[in-house]
Amino acid sequence: MSEIQIIRTKSELKQVIKAEKLAGKSVGFVPTMGALHEGHLSLVDAAKAKCDVVVMSIFVNPLQFGANEDLDSYPKRLEVDANLASDRGVQILFAPSAEEMYKPNAVTEVSNSALDSLYCGKFRPGHFTGVLTVVAKLFNLVDADFAFFGKKDFQQFRLIEMMVDDLEMNVEVVGCETIREDSGLARSSRNEYLSSEALSVAPAVARALSVLKEKVQENLGSSILDWKAAVEQDLTALGFGEMQYLELVDRDTLLPLEVASLNSVWLIAVYLEKTRLIDNLEVF
Ligand code: AMP
Repeated sequence: MSEIQIIRTKSELKQVIKAEKLAGKSVGFVPTMGALHEGHLSLVDAAKAKCDVVVMSIFVNPLQFGANEDLDSYPKRLEVDANLASDRGVQILFAPSAEEMYKPNAVTEVSNSALDSLYCGKFRPGHFTGVLTVVAKLFNLVDADFAFFGKKDFQQFRLIEMMVDDLEMNVEVVGCETIREDSGLARSSRNEYLSSEALSVAPAVARALSVLKEKVQENLGSSILDWKAAVEQDLTALGFGEMQYLELVDRDTLLPLEVASLNSVWLIAVYLEKTRLIDNLEVF
């Protein structure tokens, strides 16, 4: 297996990718914030299956964190991550500093005015503009044929698909299924913040989504209001904190639905201890 190449600058990255492209190689791209787990590595598997060269980025993007969020405490361990990525088949790892990524005089951003204040965006103002701006920059730097995103972050995944479509970007977005613990808990770098007691109740979120999915499938056209209230009550009784949102949304437009419908997704964000858990489940 060839050694992973760790690249810190945009200019070197562009040079290396250009050489791969000139050699006729297809490029798959997996953007991450590091603290890699099986969820991230499943994206690498998908990229390897489709592309000759797999590029991963590890960049904890300050632009997508709010003032009171966990930017400083977000887990960072580049060496461990580089080994995990390399073992799984990543050939090029782009790990720039914030100063390398952002010019101090930059003024242009990418935002989705229709959806960036809904769901996660409502509680994390500016978050999705930060995400779309950095992903657009990374797309321009990596010049990938395919880019792989987890449907774990469903709103993010759809906003990126919309950006690529709306702005005619030359990359194909591939959405990958959520990787879960045996308990059903969606893998997340932030699960590390949870105590062992919290980890034992956290799978209740995924269980609630499964129940809600069945309810939709079995009661098409019915109001979903009471079902949402019941889930909130159950989670509160189990010791969860604030439920920021629980919504059934149209899978394509991401707009909220009031009655049980197919081609939809349940989206949830709920606090457990000091950690904000998000999860979702598609309903077909
Ligand atoms: P992050 O490092 O949290 O920004 O995530 C980087 C990529 O990994 C995003 O496309 C996420 O949606 C994806 N990802 C994170 N957790 C999971 C998971 N449990 N299953 C699948 N993909 C995931």
